[in-house]
Amino acid sequence: MSEITLGIIGGGQLGSMLSVAAQKLNIKTVIYSDDKDAPAQNFCDEFIFGNYDDKNILYSFAQKVDVITYEFENIPFETLNELNKLKTVLPKPSVNRIIQHRLAEKDFVNKLNIRTTRYAHVENKKDIEPLEDFLPGILKTTTMGYDGKGQYPIKSVDQIDSLNIDFSKEYILEKLVRLKKEISVIVTRFESNRYEIYEPIENSHQNQILKYSKIPADISEKLFEQSKDWSIQIAEELKYVGTLCVEFFIDRNENLYVNEIAPRVHNSGHLTINAYNVSQFENHVRAVCSLEQIKLNKISNAEMINLIGDQIVYYRDNPKISDNQFFFDYLKKEIKEKRKMGHLTILK
Ligand code: ADP
Ligand code: MG
Repeated sequence: MSEITLGIIGGGQLGSMLSVAAQKLNIKTVIYSDDKDAPAQNFCDEFIFGNYDDKNILYSFAQKVDVITYEFENIPFETLNELNKLKTVLPKPSVNRIIQHRLAEKDFVNKLNIRTTRYAHVENKKDIEPLEDFLPGILKTTTMGYDGKGQYPIKSVDQIDSLNIDFSKEYILEKLVRLKKEISVIVTRFESNRYEIYEPIENSHQNQILKYSKIPADISEKLFEQSKDWSIQIAEELKYVGTLCVEFFIDRNENLYVNEIAPRVHNSGHLTINAYNVSQFENHVRAVCSLEQIKLNKISNAEMINLIGDQIVYYRDNPKISDNQFFFDYLKKEIKEKRKMGHLTILK
């Protein structure tokens, strides 16, 4: 029996799936979340409810665990930094500081000579006027965005007044890429030049929310290799420990761009639970808890369908599905439009 207790900050479905993976390895999990109803409390060994700036509760959380990780990137850097003084936080907080800020993230990627979309920093309305060249584009908040939240598509400068943009926040304006496809690459780095990498996953979005993922991705050999090489380069440069996902765009001329980096397990990797010998969640736990690295082996091609809002109802009512299908219910208390409620993986 291992005697490791893993602390996880964040109590959504990613925290749940990390807990399940940890328990399989005999690792106990304590989840810390600022949401009283966090669904991961159904899956972890212990649940702590507290705000991300509540030093006392964070302190007692740190006392209970051996190592701390997180399931989402929008945790205040200060919180991670303070916790890191008490127990090791992995991926290290400095990684999160870069990636949770879209501008710092894109600057970092460009410094590695890896292509991103074209982007400019926008602090007020006036900054947009000379950026005609970046239109049509998408204005995105520099921090706290997910599932398309905090994003405004912009076609022309005259449109800006009608969008009621909240300029108390900071933005980047990104030139729109004429998308042919989106893919993601998930890599788990253990230590210097030691990693396990999954093959590129092809993703489709609806209303900027991931709807559907599949392996193999229908892409050229060149993009298959390039996306993996860039992901490894990013993980190495960050001296990353744990599972990381790089989201890519492919344009109509077959150019590859890094869209964003997720310093965590990723929705597109849910299919790794059933399609590989070791899932992205188990690999994350193995890496942050310094367990053995196991050579990755693909078992099957697969598709994953996100069940959003009331799409979950049908599967809750009809849980009997065929042998090659796997239904996951995140057990969220309330069904909300645009909320990821569960997913279905189909092995092919
Ligand atoms: P989030 O943090 O919400 O995931 P993303 O930057 O990944 O934000 O944007 C969500 C989705 O919106 C992308 O997966 C893509 O489908 C679309 N999108 C975002 N930026 C661009 C862009 N510059 N060009 C084309 N499509 C984009
Ligand atoms: Mg994204």
